[in-house]
Amino acid sequence: MSEQQYDLVVIGAGSGGVRSARIAASLGARVAVVESRFLGGTCVNVGCVPKKMFAYASEFRDLFTLAQDYGFETGDASFDWGRLRDNKTREIERLNGVYRRLLENAGAEVIEAHGQILAPGQVQAGDRVLHTRNIILATGGRPFVPELPGSELALISDDLFSLPALPACVAVVGGGYIATEFASILHGLGCEVHQLYRGELFLRGFDDDIRQFVAAQMAESGARPRFNTDVERIEALPGNRRCLHLKGGERLDVDAVFYATGRVPNTEGLFAPEVGIALRDSGAIQVDEGYATSVPGIYALGDVTDRVQLTPVALAEGMWLARTLFAPEKPAPLSYDNIATAVFCHPNIGTVGMTEAQAREKVGAVKVFRSEFRPLRYTLGSSKTRTLMKLVVDEATDKVLGLHMAGEDAGEIVQGFAVALVMGATKADFDRTLGIHPTAAEEFVTMR
Ligand code: FAD
Ligand code: NDP
Repeated sequence: MSEQQYDLVVIGAGSGGVRSARIAASLGARVAVVESRFLGGTCVNVGCVPKKMFAYASEFRDLFTLAQDYGFETGDASFDWGRLRDNKTREIERLNGVYRRLLENAGAEVIEAHGQILAPGQVQAGDRVLHTRNIILATGGRPFVPELPGSELALISDDLFSLPALPACVAVVGGGYIATEFASILHGLGCEVHQLYRGELFLRGFDDDIRQFVAAQMAESGARPRFNTDVERIEALPGNRRCLHLKGGERLDVDAVFYATGRVPNTEGLFAPEVGIALRDSGAIQVDEGYATSVPGIYALGDVTDRVQLTPVALAEGMWLARTLFAPEKPAPLSYDNIATAVFCHPNIGTVGMTEAQAREKVGAVKVFRSEFRPLRYTLGSSKTRTLMKLVVDEATDKVLGLHMAGEDAGEIVQGFAVALVMGATKADFDRTLGIHPTAAEEFVTMR
């Protein structure tokens, strides 16, 4: 076994791991990053990036119809799943190379192996033992499928990205980000989709008006979200089909079933039992406000800590920790308030700040401004596409506490407004901002 000395060993080369390794190395630290599966992690390989490519693909069918309202004859558009999947894979492989170069050019060593902490300051990486002053655990998470008879027949989100063929009829179980995005994508690509959610209304945690609006728009487009629906067992049928036996006795026959019922942190085999890093009840690694675990010199960030599972959060944590450990000037603590987020379903959701319910609970009296309309783009022809925008304002201070949108480009639009919320903008600030006409975004500054 060869031995080497490092200032930092990062386990996991996903969003948070790559960012912390790269920044630490560029600050002069001797860094190794250990990755067992794919450079770039979940986001680049089986998450945000390929998902967004598929979301773009899923919009074309409607655009071809819309084009006819604008005078174009598009003919019968056919769709080749294999071409989309393989083009996506080629681009992701290119990005894997980009991530390797980013790390190596910054001076970090990339080791392709499973990483395990043997003791504080010691990491097993394949057949090497690395000796280091600091360790960052950035091992992310993986899909969770609840135990039920036949659960081994379920596909997980990773599987969408390498499917040999697009199934004609699909069930998607879950009501969070992934299930709702996948239901929209598969529907847009031409599958019959049944999204099955166990609760009253999907997208728990988002503003109630937005949840209802998106459910209604998805139902209108034929994506069939179904609520108060639980799966009891899954049975294999001839021809590789699946039968979902639902609670209450109903059965649903489909070609494939995806489970998108949350994710669990990757901690298996990550540290020898005697290292004793404290975990939370969820199995996530417990950290303090400086991302320190219960063992000195060992830190954790990103999805493995199961706080906010978003790429920009893992990136910010990675950057903060690398600077805190190695830069002469320490950064200010990160704020977890007003994190903007988008769900790339149809219609898109973009949101920042408090929901109406959260704001009422926190400050009491709030003013709500709401605008629902048919976007100009869809006024020619028969499309039923609509947009909802909503502002939640503190009655006492006039501060905008929450900004929510469901409609085309919601993520793009809300990103800009997030700056205003982070700066503490009031409704009066919104009112004195002139709109850009004609846009959908101008509604946020013209609501009275
Ligand atoms: P990851 O990116 O998961 O990286 C962890 C890395 O550690 C992996 O490469 C893994 O192989 C490696 N690893 C694990 N254990 C070991 C070990 N013992 N040794 C060596 N290597 C190990 N977020 C957004 O902000 N926007 C989106 O649109 C979005 N879409 C998503 C869509 C899907 C389908 C999914 C699943 C997630 C999506 N996310 C999105 C969430 C986002 O991908 C994660 O929050 C982000 O990737 C977390 O980064 P991370 O560095 O914590 O972990
Ligand atoms: P989420 O936590 O968002 O949603 C999980 C869903 O599964 C919930 O609807 C939950 O229901 C349901 N569920 C949980 N357990 C069961 C069960 N035993 N049986 C039936 N249903 C169950 O997780 P996702 O997997 O969708 O996504 C993981 C994370 O990845 C997200 O939270 C998000 O942070 C990130 N992500 C971000 C994206 C983006 O930024 N656009 C896109 C995709 C993922 P209930 O609500 O009742 O608990």
